This record gives sequence, C-alpha cells and structure tokens, in this order.
Amino acid sequence: MKSITILGATGSIGTSTLDLVERAPDRFEVFALTANCDVARLAAAAIRTRAKLAVVADERCLDDLRAALSGTNIGCAGGRAAVIEAASLGADITMAAIVGCTGLEPTMAAIARGKTVIIANKEPLVSAGDVVLAAAKASGATLLPADSEHNAIFQCFDASRPERVRRIILTCSGGPFRQRSTEEMRAMTPEQAVAHPNWSMGAKISVDSATLFNKGLELIEAARLFPVPHDAIEIVIHPQSVIHSLVEYVDGSTLAQLGPPDMRVPIASCLAWPDRMATPMAPLDLVAIGRLDFEAPDPLRFPAIRLTRDALNAGGARPAILNAANEIAVAAFLDKRIGFLEIAAIVEDTLSAYDPAAPGTLGDVLAVDTEARSIARRQIAVRNGAFLKDTVA
Ligand code: NAD
Ligand code: MG
Repeated sequence: MKSITILGATGSIGTSTLDLVERAPDRFEVFALTANCDVARLAAAAIRTRAKLAVVADERCLDDLRAALSGTNIGCAGGRAAVIEAASLGADITMAAIVGCTGLEPTMAAIARGKTVIIANKEPLVSAGDVVLAAAKASGATLLPADSEHNAIFQCFDASRPERVRRIILTCSGGPFRQRSTEEMRAMTPEQAVAHPNWSMGAKISVDSATLFNKGLELIEAARLFPVPHDAIEIVIHPQSVIHSLVEYVDGSTLAQLGPPDMRVPIASCLAWPDRMATPMAPLDLVAIGRLDFEAPDPLRFPAIRLTRDALNAGGARPAILNAANEIAVAAFLDKRIGFLEIAAIVEDTLSAYDPAAPGTLGDVLAVDTEARSIARRQIAVRNGAFLKDTVA
C-alpha cells in the first residue's frame, strides 16, 4: 500500500490521477489533496478517498472548505505555505500537478523528502531545471515524468547507456491551429484555442498547445530529464497523437511508445512504476487508426519553437524568463486583453528587455520569475495603450 499526495487535485491531471487511485484501493491510500480554490471538487474528492488532509492555496476559500468538511475527520488548511507544508508531509508518492511555476516550491518541498515525485507540472523544470535536479540528487528522490512525451521517452530510454542514444524525437499534435495561416491565427479566440483536437486539458496548457509553446517547454523539459545534447532532441508533428515520442539508438533502432491520447496511461505508468497497473483504456486499434502522419513544424507560423530552442541553448535565466512571460501572456489572452499572436510577441519582448545573470538557487529563480512577470505585464500594458494614457495623465 502506497500513500499519495496530489498537488492540484481538482485539475485535469489531478482528476485523472484520482480516477486511477480510486480504481485501485488495494494499492493506494490518499494522504493530502490540494487545490487553489475549487472547494466543492476538493472536498468531494477528499471525502470519497478518505484523505487525511485537504488544502486550498487561496486562504479566502478556507472557511468554505471547513464547512464542506465539517463532521468528517479530514484535516483542512489554507494558504500557500499550507500547500508547501502538505507537500512536505507523509506521502510515499507525490503527484505534482499544479499549473505553472507556482508549483515550484511545493514540488521542491516534496522532492526534499527523498521519495517519489511524479512530475506533470512542467513549468518548474523549465524555469529551475538545475535547482530541481540538484535537490532530487541531494535527497535521493525519484522523479518520474508524467507528461505523455517524456513518459514515452522514459519508457524507451536506456538510462544505463545514454551515450548509445543518437536522437530523441518529441512528437507534437500540432494543436488546434496546425493548418491555420498566421493571418487566420491573428483572430483566434480563447474558446478556439482551448478546443484541442485530441487531448482534454486545463486552459493554460491548451493555449500552449495552440501556440506550440507547450512543445517548446517540453523540449526544455526533455533536455533537463535526459542526458543528450540539445540538438539531439527533435520535434516532429504527428497529428493523430498515437506515438507519444521516440528514442533512436546509434545502431539505427528506434523505440517508440504508443497509446490512446488519455493522460491516464502515462500517469498509471508512473503510479505503478516499476510495476504496471491496469487502466480502463480500450486496446489500441491500429486498423481503426489506419494511418499515422508526420510533418516538420513550421517555425515561421509558430515562433515558440525558435524562442524556446534559443532559450534552451542560451541557458542561464532565459528559460525562466520565457516561461514567466508566457504564463502572463497566456493569462492575458484568456482574459481577452491581448490577441493570440501577441503571446509570442510578449515573450520575445520580455526576453529582449531582461537579461539577468544565471540563477543559482531557488531564491534566484523565484526573483527572476517575479521580475520577468512584471516586465511582461508592462509590455501588455504598453500594447494596450495604458502606458501612454498613464504618462499623459
Ligand atoms: P488545470 O488548470 O486543469 O489544473 C490546475 C490545478 O492546479 C488545479 O487543481 C488548481 O486548483 C491548482 N492551482 C491553480 N493555481 C494554483 C495556485 N496558485 N496554487 C495552488 N494550486 C493551484 O491544469 P492541468 O491541465 O491539470 O495541468 C497541470 C500541470 O500539468 C501543468 O503544468 C501542465 O502543463 C501539466 N500537464 C498537463 C497535461 C494535461 O493533459 N492536462 C499534460 C501534460 C502536462
Ligand atoms: Mg505533453
């Protein structure tokens, strides 16, 4: 029996994780569940799974959580520090499924315990890769990648002979705008951007899938997790999302992992690792799928590919700045304060405006993240004319 804590239990990944955990009551017991403020979902999941602890990051939601859990013996807490503390207690397995770099400190708290941490939350690895990996090395924690591509690579990658790997091929669905022209993309709305053809996901990663920043963040994530030269990681568009990534060896053998586009497959692989567990997935029907297509990504229509590759190669603070600016720009797009094409423009502007020294510690990364966010917000204000109005007034 393994105890599990789910950080971000009410989100898309959190819900998929709960589904698997609840199907295997003989294997897993729930220790803590956390969410930002979705009290109804969090309390229902905590009651169903008999969790020991439920935590909301937004302190204003704590009274509602207390009310929802009254009469149970489930502990409750609220506030950012309480989420970080929950991550540092008790569980054998922690699922890191908060969205964005705000998941960095809770993930670090879980890593410090030296147990198993399943990484769905990719932004901390992008912004603070060295810091996260050094912490895992120091504590002896096992990091397992739940992102479908990285889980595919993990399953195919012979970690005992990384020098025998010639290439990693990251597959990419191409997102909802794969066949749209730049002019068409200019007018795309948040509703159109979050309508992914293959995967059902949270709003932020859905927008990232439309800009291809998701694949760019995943390029950096892959470079953090697997010891190969950066230019040995390639991105290939594969619209059916059946092959989740591939590893090519020096002898010309290429191994791939295939499966339905359902995050419960890679999550189950992490939950049971190094064992396997059953999932409710239908068997892969290759005849029904019929064909698998591949194409090269278009760097002109999707500047995220170039921006992320440059940030990875330059290293230092660049990935953290790129990630922070993207988070702010995506939020502004979802809020209808900027257009779709402006997301990449704001990331690029922020990268041009800010070039600090390489962050060496967690505190340094958090400082770069905070400053890059405020610069990105200023870029958005300038684009919206606020700066002009402010200076005139
Ligand atoms: P989501 O928006 O559906 O869920 C996010 C979760 O984080 C929710 O439980 C929310 O309450 C919590 N949260 C939000 N803000 C918070 C805050 N400030 N403090 C604490 N908790 C907060 O997101 P998702 O799609 O489940 O994605 C989660 C992470 O997993 C992301 O980093 C994403 O890139 C990654 N990921 C998701 C998928 C997918 O299919 N959804 C696939 C691969 C990787
Ligand atoms: Mg992915």
